[in-house]
Amino acid sequence: MSQSVCILGATGSIGESTLKVLQQHPEQYSVFAVTAYSRLEKLVEICKQFRPQIAVVPSTQQDRLADLFKQHQIDHTEILTDESGLVAVAEHSQVDIVMAAIVGAAGLLPTLAAVKAGKRVLLANKEALVMSGDIMMRAAEQHQALLLPVDSEHNAIFQCLPNGYCQSERTGQPKQGVSRILLTASGGPFLNTSLEQLQTVTPAQACKHPNWSMGQKISVDSATLMNKGLELIEACHLFSILEHFVTVVIHPQSIIHSMVQYVDGSTLAQMGNPDMCTPIAHALAWPNRISTPVDALDVFAHQQLNFQQPDTVKFPALSLARYAMQTGGTAPAILNAANEIAVAAFLQEKIKFTAIPEIVEHTLNTVENMPANSLETILQADQFARNIATQRVSALGLK
Ligand code: NDP
Ligand code: MG
Repeated sequence: MSQSVCILGATGSIGESTLKVLQQHPEQYSVFAVTAYSRLEKLVEICKQFRPQIAVVPSTQQDRLADLFKQHQIDHTEILTDESGLVAVAEHSQVDIVMAAIVGAAGLLPTLAAVKAGKRVLLANKEALVMSGDIMMRAAEQHQALLLPVDSEHNAIFQCLPNGYCQSERTGQPKQGVSRILLTASGGPFLNTSLEQLQTVTPAQACKHPNWSMGQKISVDSATLMNKGLELIEACHLFSILEHFVTVVIHPQSIIHSMVQYVDGSTLAQMGNPDMCTPIAHALAWPNRISTPVDALDVFAHQQLNFQQPDTVKFPALSLARYAMQTGGTAPAILNAANEIAVAAFLQEKIKFTAIPEIVEHTLNTVENMPANSLETILQADQFARNIATQRVSALGLK
């Protein structure tokens, strides 16, 4: 029977790759709902092609979208708006699978709603899990949601872990023969840029990732290595493992997407061409497999796979994320919020690239850490952190 899919963030890079995979399997999947924030023309094209029943946009865009629908004779798609619309489609009774691919904290409530409705949730929106951590993992357990990682590294780790690993007891200790997780990172566009040169890099340079084509925010996160920091926190929650069992490995080719080590000396790696269609297809079909447009890896074309330690002096974001995870409570939500503000300011050329981790560190040191025992506390920490980070942006801003 065909499964019905809701794509939160359909107009983004992950949304586009998801539609590319779904398009190949029309008999297995149908698109029930799609959401967008600013790219309405793209949304209209999606609605024409995939004929979803619902489209969600901010209420400020509702009239424009209705006009565009009329212009393109789209009468099969109802428009819902704002966060209530996002939550409504995420938990809709007719939806089987939710792709959580909104960027940043804006994805938290709809993703959590999908989890609480017991859906199969394909998690790309790592910020939602970084912020809510145990709350989301406990909700998944309680409501029997299947939370499957789409982030390529976590999807790779999931593939290399023993069967049932994520369903067994959550102790923070590696189990079932696992000893360590090796989380790979490409190192981003500035792997070989000096600390001095980093002071003057531009948003365009930061967004030019050597191996992946992604949205702007995650591209900047990859350049600061904050992406790896967020992924470290994501891995700790998804796989219930303390942060000191996760080693970050720079692997510039992005062919190995992460590894799992076992007590018997085995190291399992998942490899493939760097294309998000692979982890998306894996999470859609797991435990089965479906085809994608991605070519099989040509091992003869990749004669070298290199590995090196990350430079935490040049990229302090990684240590800040480790610190936030060790500290626990609302620290990861504070880290994430400050980073979102700092990245947006860098993209608007208000601050230097190297000010991003500085702002995050300042915010972590300024906002009081609280036990993260409710969603309200987390959202409050997020707001405090945004205020402090915004003040810091003004203080450090380029004249
Ligand atoms: P994009 O910026 O390409 O897309 C983001 C999507 O979210 C768009 O559909 C956008 O709408 C929507 N959106 C943006 N802001 C809001 C908001 N305030 N409210 C509701 N919707 C909003 O990002 P990516 O696709 O690259 O990334 C999405 C998520 O997946 C991120 O969390 C990222 O970290 C994660 N991820 C991405 C990978 C990648 O390869 N791209 C890899 C691994 C994880 P619109 O475009 O219409 O404005
Ligand atoms: Mg990743």
